[in-house]
Amino acid sequence: MKKLAIDDLQLQNRRVLMRVDFNVPLDGGRVADDTRIRAALPSIKKVIEKQGKLILMSHFGRPKGQCNEKFTLRPAAKRLGELLGKDVPLAPDCIGSDAAKLIENLNSGDVLLLENVRFHPGEEANDFAFAKELAAFGDVYVNDAFGAAHRSHASTTGVTKFIDHCAAGYLMAAELQALGNLLGEPARPFIAILGGAKISGKIDVIQNLLPRVDTILVGGGMVYTFLRALEIETGKSLVEEDRILVAKEVLDFIDSPQNERKTKLMLPIDHIIADSIDANSGKETDTIVVDRLGVDIGSQTTRSFMNSILSAKTIFWNGPMGVFENSAFAKGTMAIADAVAKATESGAFSVVGGGDSVSALMQSGLAEKISHISTGGGASLEFMSGKELPGVSVLTDT
Ligand code: AMP
Repeated sequence: MKKLAIDDLQLQNRRVLMRVDFNVPLDGGRVADDTRIRAALPSIKKVIEKQGKLILMSHFGRPKGQCNEKFTLRPAAKRLGELLGKDVPLAPDCIGSDAAKLIENLNSGDVLLLENVRFHPGEEANDFAFAKELAAFGDVYVNDAFGAAHRSHASTTGVTKFIDHCAAGYLMAAELQALGNLLGEPARPFIAILGGAKISGKIDVIQNLLPRVDTILVGGGMVYTFLRALEIETGKSLVEEDRILVAKEVLDFIDSPQNERKTKLMLPIDHIIADSIDANSGKETDTIVVDRLGVDIGSQTTRSFMNSILSAKTIFWNGPMGVFENSAFAKGTMAIADAVAKATESGAFSVVGGGDSVSALMQSGLAEKISHISTGGGASLEFMSGKELPGVSVLTDT
């Protein structure tokens, strides 16, 4: 269903309550990575340009419903002010009379950031009264926090009960468009690359993608649960015993007549194995020995995964191929980042989601080359699992 967009709203002289995702990493009280703040700039600038009175709200960290100076949004307000070249005051609380006064005094084109919504237990509980208080600050509502859209909290869903016009911001719209393309009619071959620690976090995505993609390339820790399902030795590798059965079901589906698209699932054929994930170096092998664990994909696997990726017209990548935080085991992940960037340069449409795959792209300086980098790891996985995002479904239908 099509949702109201920020361009559909009357903004001039109106109080625009906008949910953003300013949950950014800090370093010594300063914003260490402002990607999320920059991602919200197009929507923010639109409201300023159209002379709305912008009231921003966000969560930051996990203060567990209590006011805690450690989780103040002050550094985010400062960084946003620098990016906009104008003062962005921080209201001392997201509800209450002090915030109300600051809002009353806003001129058209001004921006105010409310303090962390998670300082109140009502945020995560999606409390009716708390949502009503927040909503009282806006004439219209915009949600540009794609990264929080899979949560039904007061600032993402509760407030929409009290405001008539609730629109998707530009970032939200871009995310929905890019991910929607993948689940719609993607150009083929469509290849999904799934890695990361555990199969449990990705199984819903695998199951939703199985009938839609041409090939799934599996790397990272979840490989070993699949190998165990095939009764292959996995040594000390990460295996989720309670997911072996579900891994077997996926493998059975691949070989069954129900696999109408004849989707292929490629598991590594060789590995880097080591004593521990902190080891200085590993050894390449095609079999995992009893007292070692798999920490990265091997070079034959890397080559074959790269060839698949280079032949793709649509690519979705989530999760590293190995313990890439340790530079000794980052080779497979970096090679995949390189192949996804190259395929995109040759015309493929690529979407990368999830903090780790995105940081691998950042580290290798390839992020610019990707068609769409999703800012919301959890939200993009939920979307790719075929689930409706509560923060999206509550926006006004057009
Ligand atoms: P996720 O959040 O599920 O995408 O998982 C990311 C984490 O998976 C990273 O911290 C990686 O270190 C970890 N990871 C990747 N490959 C392996 C592996 N073979 N064994 C253990 N952990 C892994």
